[in-house]
Amino acid sequence: MRPLAEVSPADVCGISLVASDVDGTLTRGGKLAADVVDAIAALTSAGIVFVPISGRPAGEVLGLCRYLPGVTRGVAENGLLEIVPDQAPRWLQAPTDRALLKRVGEQLNRDHGAKLRVTGDDFCRIGDVAYERDGRDEPELLRLQAAVAGTGVHLVWSNVHIHLAQAIPDKGAGLLQLFDEWGVAPGQVATIGDSLNDAGLFRRETFGLTVGTADVARHAELFSRMPEFLCRHAEADGFLQLVDLLLDGRQST
Ligand SMILES: [Mg+2]
Repeated sequence: MRPLAEVSPADVCGISLVASDVDGTLTRGGKLAADVVDAIAALTSAGIVFVPISGRPAGEVLGLCRYLPGVTRGVAENGLLEIVPDQAPRWLQAPTDRALLKRVGEQLNRDHGAKLRVTGDDFCRIGDVAYERDGRDEPELLRLQAAVAGTGVHLVWSNVHIHLAQAIPDKGAGLLQLFDEWGVAPGQVATIGDSLNDAGLFRRETFGLTVGTADVARHAELFSRMPEFLCRHAEADGFLQLVDLLLDGRQST
């Protein structure tokens, strides 16, 4: 990974869409601050489409899409669902069997002492089953991941949640399907994320600019894909570095 600071604004003047993870990427200490909302407003005012893509439930991403300035759609539940306010959520992948996923979670608790707690936002999830991460460190998460091996269910985590899924969660696959429908060239897209569930966003051979917040460097060995560029800072301050670069790029044209 190279520092994002090495990218020249002129090199990114063709970026027309930013797809960003939410928790740990747009947030700072778990909250969305005014400077980030202003940055999103500046991006969209400059004609750059902004798409939040989150592991959060359909119901929560709907709220983001409705209220963030200039944002009209997003992707929820790690790439499973497209969210457009005032429309029904749309599956981007095969619908999941949540009862099966919950049975695997119960099995982890019963047979492996996992002590998983279903997320409080479970009522607004459509396809995903998630549990509170509750501060579990990587060795414990890897132990749980190994415990589901062979069940046909995959376990992945973000900075806040542990997800069980029937297909390996891939935010990038969901996005590529949408870009195809929207007629957006992936080379005009910048992606940014912070955690393991963002690895699908880091298709550096496909997307125009792939960026990790500084947190990506802390657990680089766990990622199936790495971004090409790394922010100087973690969380929202990394995101703001990307926004500044893209806005400078717009002005350079
Ligand atoms: Mg995240």
